Amino acid sequence: MPPALPLAPWPSACQVCGQWPATPLCKACIARFAPPTPRCRGCAAPLTAGFCTACAAHPRAPDGPADCVVAVDYGYPWDALIARFKFRGEAGWAGPFAQLMLRAPGAQGLLDGCDWVAPVPLTATRLAMRGHHPPWELVKALCRRHPRPRSADALVRLSDGPPQHRLARAERLRNLAGAFAVPPQRLAAMAGARVLLVDDVTTTGATLVAAAQALHAAGVARVDALVFARTPAPGDPLA
Ligand SMILES: [Zn+2]
Ligand SMILES: [Zn+2]
Repeated sequence: MPPALPLAPWPSACQVCGQWPATPLCKACIARFAPPTPRCRGCAAPLTAGFCTACAAHPRAPDGPADCVVAVDYGYPWDALIARFKFRGEAGWAGPFAQLMLRAPGAQGLLDGCDWVAPVPLTATRLAMRGHHPPWELVKALCRRHPRPRSADALVRLSDGPPQHRLARAERLRNLAGAFAVPPQRLAAMAGARVLLVDDVTTTGATLVAAAQALHAAGVARVDALVFARTPAPGDPLA
């Protein structure tokens, strides 16, 4: 029998600049488009440290995530790559995205300190439409790269509510009331636990707040959030 050949990665081009051969995201593009950026601990707006003036002035939603860490701002080139990940079934982007999430300031501490890493779930209808579960792919990729926490489908999503993208944050929160629940078979594991919620994109943070509230209502002690991309808001301090 001939000796087994060592496995070699297939050569490919950087999907942003086209450089070949490269990993799907080359080092130059990561340095240019995803520099590790300190952010507000509440809303993840780019900031030097602590909380932005908006988060410091207004009490945040009760039982929302304690800390929110984000890897990149939603914009070029991430918008197109996220669309491929979410809507075209290219689940392989979970690996490169997870690597960028792990580099975000504060991310390692959240992973070190949590008991469970849990995806923000999709409804069964949305899951059937997508054919895969992007936040769950991110959870698996994060847990493969970090030795400590375990992954858990800690939440189910009962409803999507009306389309969210045109609504203000308060309306989104109202729409999402009761949208998430902890399934009975997970209640014992969640009691007193620290959970890290993972999502692909956050805009106003309303989905994360609603998911965190459902976890707290089920007895979770602390919820944090780790998200790949955040849509920049007009009021961002550094926008
Ligand atoms: Zn590149
Ligand atoms: Zn803030």
